[in-house]
Amino acid sequence: MIKARHHILQTTPEQCDLLKQVQQEAAGCWNAIVAEAKAHYDAGGGWISKNDLQKRLKGRFDLHSQTVQGLVDRFCGNRRTAAENRRMGLDKNYPWREKRFVTVPFKQMAIRCSASGTVQLTLKAGIRFDTGFPFSDGIHTCEIMWRHGRYVLSCTAEYQPAEPAEQGLRAGIDIGEIHPVAVCAENGAGLVVSGRQIRSAKQQRNKSLGTFAKRLSRCKKGSRRWKKLRRAKARLRAKTDRQVRDLLHHATRKAIDWCREQGVSELVIGNPAGVEKNTRKAKRLNRKARQKVSQMETGRIKQYLSYKAEEAGIQTCLVVERGTSRDCPVCGSQNRARGRLFVCAACGFSAHRDGKAGFMMLWKKHPQIPLPQLRIEHRQAYPKYRKRLSPACVDGPDVAPSSLAIPGPLLGEHIAA
Ligand SMILES: [Zn+2]
Repeated sequence: MIKARHHILQTTPEQCDLLKQVQQEAAGCWNAIVAEAKAHYDAGGGWISKNDLQKRLKGRFDLHSQTVQGLVDRFCGNRRTAAENRRMGLDKNYPWREKRFVTVPFKQMAIRCSASGTVQLTLKAGIRFDTGFPFSDGIHTCEIMWRHGRYVLSCTAEYQPAEPAEQGLRAGIDIGEIHPVAVCAENGAGLVVSGRQIRSAKQQRNKSLGTFAKRLSRCKKGSRRWKKLRRAKARLRAKTDRQVRDLLHHATRKAIDWCREQGVSELVIGNPAGVEKNTRKAKRLNRKARQKVSQMETGRIKQYLSYKAEEAGIQTCLVVERGTSRDCPVCGSQNRARGRLFVCAACGFSAHRDGKAGFMMLWKKHPQIPLPQLRIEHRQAYPKYRKRLSPACVDGPDVAPSSLAIPGPLLGEHIAA
């Protein structure tokens, strides 16, 4: 499977200037490609071919020849996509804009392994740039791009997925708002990953957006103050989005790693698609809960889970999750959920609500599995507060260590969504 990894580049000011120059040079090349293609079309020649474009650009720019090729490839790809979109009746333009900076592509010949085992890129003749990103054999292409005020390396590589585990355990996953993922295996062992920080980040964003809306309403549209506020608002949104993405990666990684430890070979994922719909019309939830449910990122969680599972050699399938959190697994009666503990009013069965829902998801696919004793473990997506190793107060009595559980070593995952 091909996967893209992002890596923030640690650059000195000189390196930054160099990368900026390369980006500008590449932008010049891009503009030339667009101009050549337009001239060719205007002269009645139709679409210019890749080869012709490359011939016309040869030696004109101070870039690696394969970088120029990469830009030509990108142009041709964009041209094809635009044509397809236009055929479908969408109002899309062919590439036309004059650019000052572009993302710089690197292909096989411009990528090499340095003596210290990191990815080294040839920016132009005689100038190499060490990225500090560990080299692996399957690297296809690299790109250097400018994101949120710093240079980022995007590296696509072929990763060998693990051999599919045979005859392992089967497990179910429940996707939710309070706990983004809750897994439960057929032997009753389960893991619930907390989404506390995701909720907190989103709540802060919602509150701040409210403040922004209030302030913006007092400004004159287009004024300097208005523009300033709009920029700040966009920054806030982008930041929260990055935080949430990171936390979701951590949460799903925890779940899949747990599955691997337990020897799970098949994963049944509950598909909550549609829970966010018609909440107001059907008067299903209150105002606060409606906002939370509508901001649930179920699609993202499903995507992260399925590719991480594929990588670990675990088969996945989707089932409709209707009734899995409401129904009692023992007597089948419907219960109104209250809090995180599911208690059946009819038979007295009790279990962790989301862990139980994970198990019910498994039941949807394999109804013949007997109900085990559920043992649900609880972890945070990303421990913000770490246990104090030494007492906080030196003179006074020893401070009891916090009761917060610390999960295993953190995984520094930087994977593109
Ligand atoms: Zn019951």
